[in-house]
Amino acid sequence: MNQNLYSFLASHFPKNPAAPSMILPDGRVWTYGDIERASGRMANLIVSLGLRPGDRVAAQVEKTPEALVLYLAAIRAGMVFLPLNPAYQRQELDYFLNDATPGLFVCRPQMRALADELAAKAGVPHVIELDDDGRGSLIAAAAPQPDGFDTIVRTTADLAAILYTSGTTGRSKGAMLSHGNLAHNAQTLHAYWHFQPGDVLLHMLPTFHVHGLFVACHCVLLNGSAMFFEPKFDLARAMKLLPQATVFMGVPTYYVRLLLNPAFGRDTCRNIRLFVAGSAPLLKETFDEFRARSGHTILERYGMTEGGMFTSNPYDGERRGGTVGHPLPGTAIRIVGADGTAVRTGVVGNIQVKGDNVFVGYWGMPEKTREEFTADGFFKTGDMGSWDADFYITISGRSKDLVITGGLNVYPKEIEELIDAMPGVVESAVIGLPHPDFGEAVSAVVVRQKNPAGAALTEAAIISAIKGQLANFKVPKWVYLVDQLPRNAMGKVQKSILRQQYSAMPDR
Ligand code: AMP
Repeated sequence: MNQNLYSFLASHFPKNPAAPSMILPDGRVWTYGDIERASGRMANLIVSLGLRPGDRVAAQVEKTPEALVLYLAAIRAGMVFLPLNPAYQRQELDYFLNDATPGLFVCRPQMRALADELAAKAGVPHVIELDDDGRGSLIAAAAPQPDGFDTIVRTTADLAAILYTSGTTGRSKGAMLSHGNLAHNAQTLHAYWHFQPGDVLLHMLPTFHVHGLFVACHCVLLNGSAMFFEPKFDLARAMKLLPQATVFMGVPTYYVRLLLNPAFGRDTCRNIRLFVAGSAPLLKETFDEFRARSGHTILERYGMTEGGMFTSNPYDGERRGGTVGHPLPGTAIRIVGADGTAVRTGVVGNIQVKGDNVFVGYWGMPEKTREEFTADGFFKTGDMGSWDADFYITISGRSKDLVITGGLNVYPKEIEELIDAMPGVVESAVIGLPHPDFGEAVSAVVVRQKNPAGAALTEAAIISAIKGQLANFKVPKWVYLVDQLPRNAMGKVQKSILRQQYSAMPDR
């Protein structure tokens, strides 16, 4: 049997090729037949350029239906798809092209000159354009190609995609995902989240990342149903489309922004059956407020580029705020201490995962790959977390965000939760900054509310509020008040930027 992921997805497409797949902001509709034909033409084009199965197809393009079809065409033709954040500039592109050596680079017209220069240097033979409206030389070149294409036979172990990790420290690593990895996670999520006939997903996530490209699109395609395919999160568009959708997937910031709109409420969500959140921690406060305002309990899940989703709160059972739920079927999880043995309930340790969804390794980094797996095949996620008595997992942060002060471990989340609960605080990020005596000093960067409570907040008040609640070594030595925290496209707070910025603060 052909284990190409595209064959697996297509075997679930609706019998009627006129069934809608993507509904666009301007009202145009892509049908499942359109997807089959357009991906067939593009697959034929890719093969006609001389690319061979296993070659990489890199794409730095905006989110459009054509961009999604390019992904499907690449895997259909047996190529390895490599999506790149459109925000990447010269240095990043130079690194990715040299590292992954794609046979084809699809770029935006405004990046063409740079793309040609870097492609020539990296030995990338073909550069072609796809613009932000889904037009360009890629589409023109594919147009005369036949619609039909026999999907290339792949095994579960063959590579389907390489996604570069956000790389907050050191070099960004290319996580290699196989057809089997992606199919396994797609099937698991589709079943676990009870996708059903007639579902309509509101898709506002970017498609260069695991959340928007794999989690959201695969569930929809496997379900053979429709999605509102929006270029990005936009509050007004979300308010308009949510009443027509049954499923919404978002990063926590989307939920925060919905709650900031007084018009958002039960009526907005009248047809929704499932809200999913992930990619960054969802504050318990947001979880609670969302439930009160909308009548819906957000389902939070946890995963990463290196394997898709690992855990999920239950669909039917209790969804517990502040937790990421249980291991998904087919994913084994263990949480271990520094000595490698399993921790007890309530004790924070390193999260390790194993399963058919867990990636094959880092592209061109066999050494690094070996380091990140245990002898018995578990992947060390780099996330810290704990079990509760009912086997719900709580994430405490990344191990590299752990602050070690005077030899004692401090988990930023414990302090962030206390600060966030103070009147006048929007949110906070706790980091370790170099300190001559302690090695690292616990430091807090705090966003104030724009109201009298926020204005009244001082560094000293925050420090004294935490004293007495927590052991002294956990009390921030330095507090910085700011207007906002730096975040990446997936809503993750970029602590590396904060560490860099505040390490050099003259007032320290
Ligand atoms: P990425 O590979 O960009 O998807 O980032 C994965 C990382 O995001 C994980 O290793 C976690 O640190 C973090 N993450 C994902 N989902 C959650 C969640 N629900 N709660 C807390 N952190 C999360």
